[in-house]
Amino acid sequence: MGRKIDDHFIIKIEDMSDRGEGIGRDNGFIWFVRDTVPGDVVEAAVTGVKKTYGHAVAVHFLLHSPDRVEPFCPYFSHCGGCQLQAIDYLSQLRLKDEMVKNQLKRIGAVANADELVRPVLGMDNPWRYRNNEQFFPGLEENGRPAFGFYAERTHRMIRQDDCLVGAQENSPILRVIQKYMEDYNIRPYDENDQSGTVNRVQIRKGFATGDILVCLKIHGHISDLKEPQVLIDRLTALFPDYQSGMCAPDEPHIESVCCQILDTKGAEGAVVNLYGPGFITEKTGHITYRISPASFFQVNPSQTERLYKTVLSMAALGGSETVWDLYCGIGTISLLLAKSAKQVYGVEIVPQAVNDARENARLNGIENVSFFAGKAEQILPRQYEKNRIFADVTVLDPPRKGCGKACLDTIIKMRPSRIVYVSCDAATLSRDVKILSEGGYELKQVQPIDMFPQTIHIENVCLLLRSGEKDDHDTVT
Ligand code: SAH
Repeated sequence: MGRKIDDHFIIKIEDMSDRGEGIGRDNGFIWFVRDTVPGDVVEAAVTGVKKTYGHAVAVHFLLHSPDRVEPFCPYFSHCGGCQLQAIDYLSQLRLKDEMVKNQLKRIGAVANADELVRPVLGMDNPWRYRNNEQFFPGLEENGRPAFGFYAERTHRMIRQDDCLVGAQENSPILRVIQKYMEDYNIRPYDENDQSGTVNRVQIRKGFATGDILVCLKIHGHISDLKEPQVLIDRLTALFPDYQSGMCAPDEPHIESVCCQILDTKGAEGAVVNLYGPGFITEKTGHITYRISPASFFQVNPSQTERLYKTVLSMAALGGSETVWDLYCGIGTISLLLAKSAKQVYGVEIVPQAVNDARENARLNGIENVSFFAGKAEQILPRQYEKNRIFADVTVLDPPRKGCGKACLDTIIKMRPSRIVYVSCDAATLSRDVKILSEGGYELKQVQPIDMFPQTIHIENVCLLLRSGEKDDHDTVT
């Protein structure tokens, strides 16, 4: 190809990378072009060249994609959290549909992906959906702390504390924290010289209960947060109606304030409770959950209801089944399934999440579940080999890196008749589907659910049946 840095060339953008760059192809060579979307035709300037691909920036637009819209968020191109804001929502869904099908075909060797993948379940209003976000403080040019991000290649902090996919309450909460930091000279953490205290702030909200948890993640010692009571008083004063009992019980309100100590490498340590019970409560369907700061919980509550309904209907339980719910978090899926199963076993690696899961079972009066704390790829083989615990149905909901190989191997040996695989990464899902198909399972259905509008990410729920097994249950969503 022979293109060099700063060469200009014309390219049509056809695809999108998982980092949100447009992708174009030129004689088999792949170009990642910044600030472009599929359908654009641009004059691009080369910024980097590798063996089979290169990076470029758009310097001139010859054709704007018909799918383009004006991004809602003024900081869209700097922040990097949302990759798809420049594309209208229906086109985002179309792009995700193609992405899922392509990954399944290419990585998963699923030849009939076009038939198996159902239309993506999108949102009516794809904004303000996130119930959990982290915000990073820095110093503005005048030396005052603010939440936002640094403009590229500079040390200039751009204040941005109202993320449009997050809850409306985040911004006033962050303003209170910022003022508190300023008043008591508590500095943002600076990783360059490891000075300062506050690394980031996590805000988590129960959409059905109004509970809000604020967690300051700091370096150093809890005593570096001077006068924490002032912070608590100011935060709780933000929602006066709730305090006076003048409004509905699900009105937003500060339920808990806590602080988590990070080590120098950034690993999360002990959580110190400063105010409230140290967790929030949330409801999905008929189940009530307690969620601690370190526990995973699905980020999009309204789409989570649809996700769990899909899981439940694909699991097609009749009441007599033994179910393994691997990567179970705080036991959300385990508890939903327990009502229609004989016994459910959950496995989760984060100890606080397992505590939450056990407490949630108790809270909901569900007795036919038990939870194991540890790695799914260790617990499952051990329980299967030693204690002969079988499963009729297995639910998998691993993090983005997918399932551990030992976990898949044990499932193949254990031969459950159904596997419901929930995934937030179509590439690792496809890799694991291939392993399961080689182990005697057939992919029957894939339901993409848009849990993360404006971003490149997409959730999928898949049903796999042991080959020869008949699917006589209709899946409804
Ligand atoms: N099914 C749950 C959680 C899914 S997220 C829900 O819907 O809420 C994936 C979970 O897997 C997280 O809670 C994470 O802590 C956990 N996890 C990550 N690696 C693991 C492993 N090797 N073994 C077991 N759990 C793991």
